[in-house]
Amino acid sequence: MSNNNLESEKKMSKKQGEQNSARRTFLLNTARGLGLAALGGLVWSAYVDEVTASQLLLRPPGAIEEEEFLKTCIKCGLCVEHCPFDTLELAKPGDNKPLGTPYFIPREVPCYMCTDIPCVPVCPTNALEEKLVSNDEGELDITKAQMGLAVVDVENCIAFWGIQCDACYRACPLLDEAITLEYSKNERTGKHAFLKPVVHSDACTGCGLCERACVTEKAAIFVLPKEVAQGKVGDHYIKGWDAEDEKRLENAFGEETKTELSERSPMDSLNDMGGLLDE
Ligand code: SF4
Ligand code: SF4
Ligand code: SF4
Repeated sequence: MSNNNLESEKKMSKKQGEQNSARRTFLLNTARGLGLAALGGLVWSAYVDEVTASQLLLRPPGAIEEEEFLKTCIKCGLCVEHCPFDTLELAKPGDNKPLGTPYFIPREVPCYMCTDIPCVPVCPTNALEEKLVSNDEGELDITKAQMGLAVVDVENCIAFWGIQCDACYRACPLLDEAITLEYSKNERTGKHAFLKPVVHSDACTGCGLCERACVTEKAAIFVLPKEVAQGKVGDHYIKGWDAEDEKRLENAFGEETKTELSERSPMDSLNDMGGLLDE
């Protein structure tokens, strides 16, 4: 490339950068102005009502439960402004997200898990709560954040094909806690090992650094809000090998249902299925 071309590319990219920054400032100021109007309870709540809250949105660290968050966040943009990595964005018209609320897309810019978590204390309404990102001593602790949970698509993760890849594992700021590598023999080749990434929900903060680092065209590991990513066992199953879980049986009560069939001995019932086999 000639020097002239290089210079003109540099100029174009500088101009584009300036335009983006001006647009961002404009959006923030607009959002902040309208957010203040919403203190009167009018403008933004009307907009939010018009948009269905996306269940798949990832909120900043410390965000309270989604329904409450939508009522509490005044769309001031302070969290966005204080994020040094430009991780957070405010939803704009056309984004199909609750307007003016902050969110992030890890594949584009993940949360870099700042130790001082500058996005949280600036929140004027506690839509982002410090205690949700604090340890038992009351100190800010980003490892307590629960922005979401990383999920591995085992059909498209190349490590599950037997190809060596640990990009997500290496990118994780909680190495060997939130993601570990599970070794197993590759029966197909007979001489290689699988090294499969396994996510641990008790440690994963949902920062999305793994999703950002994933080598596949569309990430084979991605962050979802916890309520979306996780199933729920319910009360009917107990881990018999877990003394803590077994304590749930202490207050359990049983209910016995008696039928004509259940009152007979099992052997009689098997030999004579209550007359069912005679028909
Ligand atoms: S913890 Fe840091 S990188 Fe993450 S959203 Fe907050 S300010 Fe941005
Ligand atoms: S989460 Fe808090 S700081 Fe961020 S836009 Fe909403 S009210 Fe403002
Ligand atoms: S970076 Fe992507 S492809 Fe590689 S091990 Fe992680 S999830 Fe699998």
